[in-house]
Amino acid sequence: MAITYNDLIASVRKQAKEISLDELKRRIEAKEGYTIVDVREKEEYRGGFIPGAVSVPRGYLEQNIENRVPDKNAKIVTYCAGGTRSWLAAKTLSDMGYTNVEVANPGFTRWKDRGYPIDMPPQLTEAQRDRYSRHLLLPEVGEAGQTKLLKSKVLLIGAGGLGSPAGLYLAAAGVGTLGLVDLDVVDASNLQRQVLHATSRVGMPKVESAEKVLKDLNPDVKVIGIKERLTSENVDRIFGDYDVIVDGTDNFPTRYLVNDASVFLGKPVVHGSIFRFDGQLTVFAPEKAAKKLGIAPGPCYRCLYPEPPPPHLAPSCTEAGVLGILPGVVGLLQATEAVKLLLGRGDPLVGRLLTYDSLKMKFRELKLRRAPDCPVCGPSPTITKYIDYEGFCAIG
Ligand SMILES: [Zn+2]
Repeated sequence: MAITYNDLIASVRKQAKEISLDELKRRIEAKEGYTIVDVREKEEYRGGFIPGAVSVPRGYLEQNIENRVPDKNAKIVTYCAGGTRSWLAAKTLSDMGYTNVEVANPGFTRWKDRGYPIDMPPQLTEAQRDRYSRHLLLPEVGEAGQTKLLKSKVLLIGAGGLGSPAGLYLAAAGVGTLGLVDLDVVDASNLQRQVLHATSRVGMPKVESAEKVLKDLNPDVKVIGIKERLTSENVDRIFGDYDVIVDGTDNFPTRYLVNDASVFLGKPVVHGSIFRFDGQLTVFAPEKAAKKLGIAPGPCYRCLYPEPPPPHLAPSCTEAGVLGILPGVVGLLQATEAVKLLLGRGDPLVGRLLTYDSLKMKFRELKLRRAPDCPVCGPSPTITKYIDYEGFCAIG
């Protein structure tokens, strides 16, 4: 005999247990291990969902549930908008052999009316899904990671040799905000290595030249050009709410200022430097920055070199040669570390110095240790405000 819809619902209610929305909220807050399955359509899910819920629309339940929830004895709670589809989904799950299925009633509409917490799914546009498709295919990035990158802010100190490749690839990867600090104008002698710039833009401020290229490469990226020299006066303002600092300068005053600001403000610094045929790279994540990243703290620059050398002993950097390709390698390694920090993936180069010898084509790794008596990140610091060192050269 054919059964009516009401009969069906009545029989389903015998197969699964109902729980209240209050009970579901309590379980979420207590972090009890439940798999919450949202069986509404994708469009409904995009408008918000109960925290932690996985989306398996009812129309695809039979096809997709075993991928999402392989354990047939898992504790499952289904919900929909008003409390009908969730029961039908529970019946399907019971029929498929799931033994521990409950239904949260009346569903999402009431949950939202009560002002209970709601999570929003990553919201990429069609164009973004297309642009970042190779990222979306990586489970380590995916839509959630790409959304994170788009919301991230990276500050590049210098739009020169290191800042050029780093800026290009960070923009291509969809890092949503790129700040560029550089006071220089493009010079013909830069073009041998500073690939953000071009012959047609010689004489143009580097931040403007860079902005032109980066905006054209990826309109998702907001480029903030900062035509200033970093000083003790402006460093707090410029560092602002950036997540990661990519240091591409090679002058001591800026390097020490960037370091001290990163310690005071809790910003990780991806540090790179180049000389002739050799490059170096590390990530400085002292206490406060490491805490934000959820990683173990490493040394800062002053742990290694407490004070800059006196000006007359500093290398004469304006005259130093550099292989044009070298900053490309180091800048891209810096970009890689920056993206890893933003995504919270992999092992960051904290407490490790990577050296690159392009003539021998050799990479080496050295351990870097925190100095227990570091003047800025140690337990009893003697440097508690910024110092402007003077009299050093600057190259990019
Ligand atoms: Zn230190």
